Amino acid sequence: MEYNKDDIKRMLLAEGANKELLFAYAAEEKRKNVGNITYLRGLVEYSNVCAKNCLYCGIRSGNGNVQRYTLDTVSVMDAARFAMAKGYGSIVLQGGEIFTPEHVARIEDILHKIKELSNGELGVTLSLGEQSLDTYRRWFAAGAHRYLLRIESSDRELYNKLHPVNKLHDYDTRIEALNNLRTAGYQLGTGVMIGVPFQTIDNLVDDIEFFRSMDIDMCGMGPYVEHRDTPLYKYKDMLQPTGWRMEMTLKMIAVLRMVLPKVNIAATTALEAIDPEGRTRALKVGANIIMPNITPGIVRDSYKLYEGKPSPGDDLESYGAAINELVERAGDVVGYGKWGDSLYFREKYEQK
Ligand code: SAH
Ligand code: SF4
Repeated sequence: MEYNKDDIKRMLLAEGANKELLFAYAAEEKRKNVGNITYLRGLVEYSNVCAKNCLYCGIRSGNGNVQRYTLDTVSVMDAARFAMAKGYGSIVLQGGEIFTPEHVARIEDILHKIKELSNGELGVTLSLGEQSLDTYRRWFAAGAHRYLLRIESSDRELYNKLHPVNKLHDYDTRIEALNNLRTAGYQLGTGVMIGVPFQTIDNLVDDIEFFRSMDIDMCGMGPYVEHRDTPLYKYKDMLQPTGWRMEMTLKMIAVLRMVLPKVNIAATTALEAIDPEGRTRALKVGANIIMPNITPGIVRDSYKLYEGKPSPGDDLESYGAAINELVERAGDVVGYGKWGDSLYFREKYEQK
């Protein structure tokens, strides 16, 4: 069914019994299209070194209170080995935006090593920001096949309120990067933060429209969580309460499952930061991806995008069991050992 902007807005404004109805419909769409299977991607927070200065982010280059790190190759390989042993099927390499040729070559080398280690079996998603088409192509050739680059907000004006207005943080460059990712052959993932200062419901409606028009394969949306060492912190008193941000994120997930039933949708970590049951609730209303954090413990606390970011603690074994339980509480089973590619992407590809 085609939903227009009015339908989407009505769904996002639903409360009480209507909201429960939306959630129930979205759960049914999930079951019918992608099934009650949640796929895991072990999240490796590769580096908190970042050239950018996004106004919301705790690891922005302008924050002098951060101890900067970059994982060495051995640590990344250990994490990849752990993910394989646990049957996670895929990992995500995420980090700040770095543009040096050394960085590009290092990621390329790591990708080759992961593919070698796993006999090509471990899926790899990248989330390393805006890069050139050439870099995207090199990393794809080295074995990465999915990429996450959030638009943060599809509204140009709002985007410019969330970022410094300069060449390094340019809306059009962001769009171009998303198009380049598609050209390079990746499954394309994007997303937005929900509850940022100045955001309206109409912005969120437009975000859903944007996802549709960009023909995305994957989506990660999470609540905005303020961080005191960032410029946006000064607007904290005008924010919606965290409970509102939670409910609106769930509604965005549910609406996206209705509008694009076959894409992969993540139950993001930021949900857990404001509600211990946040990710279970997201899986219940349409999400089908979880990214357990498998970053080595010594650096994990330095990758603080926002405050209150949950940490799995040192016992990654029991964390794995807890992830399994949270998935089962949502009525899903874990798709162990599978890549869990976007069904939407697969069908598009098969039609070609
Ligand atoms: N540097 C890369 C990847 C790391 S940031 C990039 O920017 O794409 C990953 C995501 O963290 C961002 O896309 C942003 O949506 C999210 N994030 C950053 N600061 C946040 C905050 N204060 N609250 C919620 N999410 C935040
Ligand atoms: Fe850097 Fe990403 Fe944070 Fe922006 S959101 S400052 S690009 S890590």
